[in-house]
Amino acid sequence: MNVLVLNCGSTSLKAEIRDTKLNTSLGKWHVERIGNVVKNHGVAVAQVLAQTEGALIHAVGHRVVHGGEAFTEPTQIDDEVVQTLELLVPLAPLHVPANLQGIRAARAALPDLPHVAVFDTAFHATLPNRAKHYAIPEDIATRHGIRRYGFHGPSHAYVARQAALHMDEDLRDLRVITLHLGGGCSATAVEYGRSVETSMGMTPLEGLVMGTRSGDVDAGALIAIARAEGLTIDELDSMLNRECGLAGLSDTSGDLRDIEARAAEGDPLCRNAINVFAHRIRKYIGAYAAVMGGVDAIVFTAGIGENSALIRHRVAQRLDFLGARIDEDLNRDANVREHGVVDIGAPGCRCRLLVVATDEASEIASQAARVASHVDEINAELRIPIAISARHVHLDRATCDLLFGEGYQLTKYKDISQPGQFACNERVDLVGPRKTIERVRILGPLRRANQVEVSRTDEFTLGIDAPIRNSGDVANSPGITLRGPNGTVTLTQGVIQARRHIHMQPADAERMGVNDRDVVEVAIDSNGRDLVFGDVLVRVSEKYALEMHVDTDEANAAELTSDVSGALVSSTAQVRITRRR
Ligand code: AMP
Repeated sequence: MNVLVLNCGSTSLKAEIRDTKLNTSLGKWHVERIGNVVKNHGVAVAQVLAQTEGALIHAVGHRVVHGGEAFTEPTQIDDEVVQTLELLVPLAPLHVPANLQGIRAARAALPDLPHVAVFDTAFHATLPNRAKHYAIPEDIATRHGIRRYGFHGPSHAYVARQAALHMDEDLRDLRVITLHLGGGCSATAVEYGRSVETSMGMTPLEGLVMGTRSGDVDAGALIAIARAEGLTIDELDSMLNRECGLAGLSDTSGDLRDIEARAAEGDPLCRNAINVFAHRIRKYIGAYAAVMGGVDAIVFTAGIGENSALIRHRVAQRLDFLGARIDEDLNRDANVREHGVVDIGAPGCRCRLLVVATDEASEIASQAARVASHVDEINAELRIPIAISARHVHLDRATCDLLFGEGYQLTKYKDISQPGQFACNERVDLVGPRKTIERVRILGPLRRANQVEVSRTDEFTLGIDAPIRNSGDVANSPGITLRGPNGTVTLTQGVIQARRHIHMQPADAERMGVNDRDVVEVAIDSNGRDLVFGDVLVRVSEKYALEMHVDTDEANAAELTSDVSGALVSSTAQVRITRRR
């Protein structure tokens, strides 16, 4: 798919057409001084489109700096999305209006193509609450959406993945610290593929020292500066974004190349700027290693990270305690524009030091292509409905006769999802050594052997200890007393916790790439209680309907809800499935 990537900055537009299949660039354009020489982003987009005339474009990917709480993944743009974006302007007043102008102009010029917004903040939607919150009054935070969002998402996501590829590892097995060091700078802790901490906050002003942005400053110092200098809020905003960082420290320039040159000549302010810049990064590395309980790779990227051997050298000093040691020759010679990824760590070190060429346009294009080609919808076909299996009883003929009377026919309360199975109107009491659980539903039809399926919590109530078993495997399991209207039966065995499992048709198995008896993991996207279930048995048969069965304890742990109490209750949780390695 060919995707036109539009990246509208506050005063510039970068455009590129990417072939997402071959991962190549089919052309790049750069318009500068928007608002001055070029009237606005709409005019800039029109200029670029005039130059792309004739190029085959299947979709447009728009970089959008802030998705707020509303957008946590790439999103196909319609009028409603545009309206929601307008509400996000206060979160990034310089950037979101520029993004919106680009979106409006491109949608007007290319109305028949899918337009996809790819958000800087989306990669950090996985931040845990403890990392998102500032210690400010909760009502103020909620009212104004004040929390850590994080930025540079496409870059952090891209370089973390490239690092894993280079290490021949699955990103889901790695703890990576990604350092995006360009005009703007941010660090991210990518724990097993998910962003769990990041240095930019509600705005792209927090964290590392940047070209002209301050990064972390004591909030009290800002109040003191505003008071002492008599600054308005807008003046303070402008100072922190435009006059601080390397530019402010060095009193020379916000461009590290100039500062490195002056520092080499002995300029004390420029030397100090480099020291503060590198120290701040080292501080974050230590913090993020602590947050993740270790680190497997530290990744340098963007203009400074990719090009400045001096900064990499300064940052990587004395990281031996993390198992990272820099090889100075490799560092000096690193050329990522040629190689994509260069390992600058000394051989044999536990933690790799990698320089990775970032490619935000490629990342934005591939995310946009995914949405535009409805890959996620296709993935949705891999979802598995979940049934929550409440405690229930299967009876054999003889036991049914004793409990309900000779030749008694169970009556259907309702069909359940597996063909031929039904919940009965009949119920029995489970009489355990400790307590009794009353009115437990029977599932029909009758079976060859009795089986009582309970949860771990039920076992505590009853006072028994039952094994986790596949259905039908009741040998040497504990017994229990069943009390029915016509009599009481004490089973010598038959009580189990059903092993969680998935029923599926052969066609489902083929689509999901699994076989009968495979043991897989199932990730549940629950509402705030995501959970990965391991040890899930796959059972494939023409007789089955696609469904995963969990017991009530498992359902509660994942906050799966059901509004009907009964034997098997369907739920609509979303499930992803991975084959266990
Ligand atoms: P970016 O925002 O990723 O384009 O990074 C731009 C910044 O990277 C510039 O402002 C410079 O400070 C820095 N940079 C680019 N090339 C070099 C270099 N060869 N040495 C040091 N810094 C560089």
